Amino acid sequence: MKKTMIYGSMSMLMLAACNSASQEADTPEITEEEPDQQQEQPEEVEEPTEEIDPDDSDEQEDSEEVVEEVEPEYEINDVIWTVDPLEDANPEVVLATFDDAPDKHAVEMAQTLKENNVQAIFFVNGHFLNTDEEKEKLKEIHNMGFPIGNHTMTHQDLKSLSEEEQYEEIVEVSDTVEEIIGERPRFFRAPFGSNTDYSKELVAEEGMTLMNWTYGYDWESEYQDADALADIMVNSEFLQNGANLLMHDRDWTNEALPTIIDGLREQGYEFVDPDLIK
Ligand SMILES: [Zn+2]
Repeated sequence: MKKTMIYGSMSMLMLAACNSASQEADTPEITEEEPDQQQEQPEEVEEPTEEIDPDDSDEQEDSEEVVEEVEPEYEINDVIWTVDPLEDANPEVVLATFDDAPDKHAVEMAQTLKENNVQAIFFVNGHFLNTDEEKEKLKEIHNMGFPIGNHTMTHQDLKSLSEEEQYEEIVEVSDTVEEIIGERPRFFRAPFGSNTDYSKELVAEEGMTLMNWTYGYDWESEYQDADALADIMVNSEFLQNGANLLMHDRDWTNEALPTIIDGLREQGYEFVDPDLIK
């Protein structure tokens, strides 16, 4: 699952897919296609958009206008996925994100974050939002003030789906989240970081900020242990200003979280408030 990539002259980045058991382990790797696609992004304006229901995007814009405006201080770097300051905001920040939520530990993790004054994004999947209990978890996380991100309905590789299927995978989660907490996700992260030109366009139409991540380890077998994970998350060679940290709703991540928070702060980083991200 571990991959090393080189983006032109940039330093090597470790990218890997979110782990969700064997389903993800069998998924084709996404390596050099990603940077290519990201660079192509601005040219993809003429992509057909018939699949995008104009009514839906109108509704979404309406609902967004109700949300109180916060002046953005950061933006997501769409090549290396760091959180970069727009002007004179503190550059020594990291972004905490949790994917594949709300499964077993998301609420407890949100409580740990809250106790430690850390903001974070919880990226949710529709397949974790079926029962009343699961919906209640989402409400709790939202009520604690954490932004909810869209991680698709069933965690499939978007590159393997038709545009219609991608539309369902993405828009249905936003609909579901809105039904439960009254607002649509503002952030999007594709399973395995695997986007298509269509998904990128749809995500933009839906008013979401797309991101992958800078580093994460909790799906690799050697880091499925709280001590090992806490150590690598804090001492990774990929730790840098604006690092976008990928973690998951997992036993060992839950256990390691307080140590990860303390360790990153000891290294001089603040946790960025996702509400300040453009
Ligand atoms: Zn995932």
